[in-house]
Amino acid sequence: MDVDECIAEGEKDNVLLFPPQPASKELRHKILTGFCRDIEPSRFEEAGCTVCGLLIPKSKLTLKDEVMIDWDLLKADRG
Ligand SMILES: [Zn+2]
Repeated sequence: MDVDECIAEGEKDNVLLFPPQPASKELRHKILTGFCRDIEPSRFEEAGCTVCGLLIPKSKLTLKDEVMIDWDLLKADRG
């Protein structure tokens, strides 16, 4: 049986070529740029949380100066 006989008339133009064409220069650039962005050291660096002391990825931390918190509440009362 010929392959053409297995494909409906209107679907012949939708058949994908195999093997596919190599990725375009723009797509390769997009993939490599995204990969490099995803493996930046800043994505993995951790720092201690001021409140609980746990190590947290820096990308998920907020600077103390950027939040409105009364930091005096965390000071031990030694009086
Ligand atoms: Zn914390």
